[in-house]
Amino acid sequence: MLDKEILDFIVCPKCKGDLKLEGEFLICQNCQSKYPIKDDIPILLEEEAQKINQNIKKEEV
Ligand SMILES: [Zn+2]
Repeated sequence: MLDKEILDFIVCPKCKGDLKLEGEFLICQNCQSKYPIKDDIPILLEEEAQKINQNIKKEEV
C-alpha cells in the first residue's frame, strides 16, 4: 500500500498540481493526468501518463 504521506510532497510533473490517490493510480487535481503506481512507487512520468490517458480515451470512444 502506498504511504499516503508521500502525497504531501509529490506533485504532478507536468503542472505541479496536487495528486490524489485513486485505486492504483495518482490523478492530478489540476490537469487530470493519471499516473500509475508500480510496486508502491508512483511513476511520475509524463510519458506514462500519456499512455494511460490515451488508453482511457480509446475505451470511452
Ligand atoms: Zn497536472
